[in-house]
Amino acid sequence: MNGSDSSGSGGKGSGGKEPDGAEAGGARGAGSGGLPRDPAFLASLASSLLDHGDMALVYVDRAGICRHADRRFAAALDRNPADLVGHALGALDHPVAAAIATAIAGVGDASAPSTAPVDCRTLGCDGRLSFLSGSVLVHRDGAGVALGYLGAFHETGDPDRIAEFVTCRDSFVATLLDAAVDGIIISGRDGVIRSVNRACSRLFGYEEGELLGRNMAMLMPPPFSRDHGRYIDSYLKTNRAKIIGIGRDTLGQRKDGTVFPMHLSVGEARLGAEVTFVGIIRDISERLAAEQRASYLARHDPLTGVLTRTAFLEECEALFAGQRAGQQAGQDAVQDAGETVPETRFALFTLDVDQFSDINEVFGFHVGDAALKAMVSRVTEVLPPDTIVCRIAADEFAALSRVADGEHAHRLADVLHDRLTASIYADRHWVRLRLSIGAAVEDETVHTLEDLNAKAKLALQAVQHNGGNAVCFYTPEMAAAATRRMMLTMHLAHAIERNELHLVYQPIVDQHGRLQSAEALLRWNHHVLGAVSPGEFIPVAEESGLIVPITDWVLTTAVAQMARWEAEGVLPDRVFLNISGQQFLRGNLTLRLEELLAGHPSLRSHLGLEITEQAAVRDLKVAVRTLGELADLGIQAAIDDFGSGYSSLSYVQQLPVAKLKIDRAFVIDVPENPKSNALVRAAVGMAHGLGLVTVAEGVETVEQRDFLVSVGCDMMQGYLFGRPMMPEALADMVRRQAVAALE
Ligand code: C2E
Ligand code: CA
Ligand code: CA
Repeated sequence: MNGSDSSGSGGKGSGGKEPDGAEAGGARGAGSGGLPRDPAFLASLASSLLDHGDMALVYVDRAGICRHADRRFAAALDRNPADLVGHALGALDHPVAAAIATAIAGVGDASAPSTAPVDCRTLGCDGRLSFLSGSVLVHRDGAGVALGYLGAFHETGDPDRIAEFVTCRDSFVATLLDAAVDGIIISGRDGVIRSVNRACSRLFGYEEGELLGRNMAMLMPPPFSRDHGRYIDSYLKTNRAKIIGIGRDTLGQRKDGTVFPMHLSVGEARLGAEVTFVGIIRDISERLAAEQRASYLARHDPLTGVLTRTAFLEECEALFAGQRAGQQAGQDAVQDAGETVPETRFALFTLDVDQFSDINEVFGFHVGDAALKAMVSRVTEVLPPDTIVCRIAADEFAALSRVADGEHAHRLADVLHDRLTASIYADRHWVRLRLSIGAAVEDETVHTLEDLNAKAKLALQAVQHNGGNAVCFYTPEMAAAATRRMMLTMHLAHAIERNELHLVYQPIVDQHGRLQSAEALLRWNHHVLGAVSPGEFIPVAEESGLIVPITDWVLTTAVAQMARWEAEGVLPDRVFLNISGQQFLRGNLTLRLEELLAGHPSLRSHLGLEITEQAAVRDLKVAVRTLGELADLGIQAAIDDFGSGYSSLSYVQQLPVAKLKIDRAFVIDVPENPKSNALVRAAVGMAHGLGLVTVAEGVETVEQRDFLVSVGCDMMQGYLFGRPMMPEALADMVRRQAVAALE
């Protein structure tokens, strides 16, 4: 190997230095076109060949001694080159050595051919079977005397196995293809089918024999079959096929004529000059169905089947744009024809169930779900057939309908409200929903769906602000009102810390005009806006959740005031505080009161709470429990605003309350209005029947007082006896009364 190393570097050197010299040498030694024959050139060529060729090489001198063996050759004999060089090759007990010896013997004399083939099986130390295939070449000097022998070999696979593979290839490939799930079709460059696998025949419903030799286009419906013909034509002209390597979704046609979606990917195989196309076909009906299902699910609410919000907006937007374009076209046509087309406009209804969570809480989610489904079917029943309905949130829906005019929209909204608030039989329970509907009708000021949507939303806010369970159509004042509510919400959030709240107290008197109790009423004096009435800010507080800290402030402040009054000896029998429905049903009211009264146990029997009839009835179970807990503490409860809401004494009867406050709306008309008289008389009678004390609110005149006393009303409250006043004023009143009693 040493020798080959030195000649190798020398070879590189001379080849690198004189590329032109080699050319010149070639011209000198071998005639034009041949390799140069000068010794330096040949030496460098030989060393390149020996060191860098990819053949296994061995050189044996004429005495049979190995003079050169490269790594590949040595490895084929499972030896190192050093083990071979300098040794007689024939002495090795190896089939390769033996085969070379035989070959050398065959080329030994001058008359014999100068090369002999060698094919020999060898087994490496790794147990790998391989074959050396090549020849032995005799190396002669100028006189033709043999100097030695060069063996050059390739390592190859087992020729028997290769032959075996080739013979069984066709059936092997066919088996493989038939095992494939995808349809595979092989065609020539003319588009004629050469071969199909079983999946392909099955997919298209043909026998293999019906396909072979026919054009691929038969498997596609028009226009794809025509397109395919064009592809082939263009391919034959340009020799370029665009589809190669690119899969695409297309349609296939079965023998029975049915068409199905398929994915086709095409590969090109060249065998010499012959070109074949391999098409792999997959039936994608299921995938497409799944995609369609997924996109349906993305656009539809799974519970009710109506559109989702995003899909609704998209569809409405499209409809809206379509209507506008249609209107324009219609107007043009009308002008041309001189006739009139009935004009329609859009109405958007937004629906929100009031306190829907109550239904879920009381009856369970399955009832809530069933109620929502029933709602949707009633919406589609009531509104015109081309209405688009969507579910915006859990219990919020929107519907866009075409209406003739505003009046039509109002009629629809009223029917909608009636139908949706009628009893619903939901999963074996009868439930009644309270529903707020905000609606808006398209007019000149509405240019986009968003405009209409904003108006319907404002209308909905307005209904909800006014107690819900009603229909309200957008009016321009609503925008201003909503802005004002937003501003109030912002300022109200700081009212406590800025000390802007205070309580006033209004006396409640008995039939003789003697002060028995008082109602605490909240006041808000904003530093810029001035006095904001509780009628305005309490609903804002309820909507924003600010009612929670505000109620807590009221409770704390009133209890502290009562403690002061008690110390001064001027505490009325009862001081009533107003508790909003939200706070009453959700808050941990009892716990908080227990905490506050812990330091003043004697105040318990002086405290009263007023809750509205609506709040109590909304969740009777919670109301009964809470009122019971309060009664256990000694706190009395009164039903406020009786007559303004459900006015159902059958409900009130179930509540552990002591007082019933008759709403000012009834008192205001007595004694002039016989209807009001009858109502007040009935309310007092029934309340007494239930053992309740009655209180009339808003008593302003002597006539009202006299009437109330005549029907047996126990207590009265109103400007006639005293306006809501500062705590000191009420204390004075109590004191004056005590003095008067002594006199
Ligand atoms: P309400 O509970 O029905 O309170 C009685 C309302 O009638 C008070 O209005 C009172 O000033 C008014 N009023 C009393 N006598 C007469 C009268 O002879 N004529 C007329 N025209 N009105 C009379 P106010 O103070 O404006 O309160 C309005 C509503 O705000 C209250 O109605 C109550 O629902 C709510 N509210 C007031 N303070 C609180 C509170 O601390 N918490 C809660 N949650 N709500 C409160
Ligand atoms: Ca009240
Ligand atoms: Ca009241």
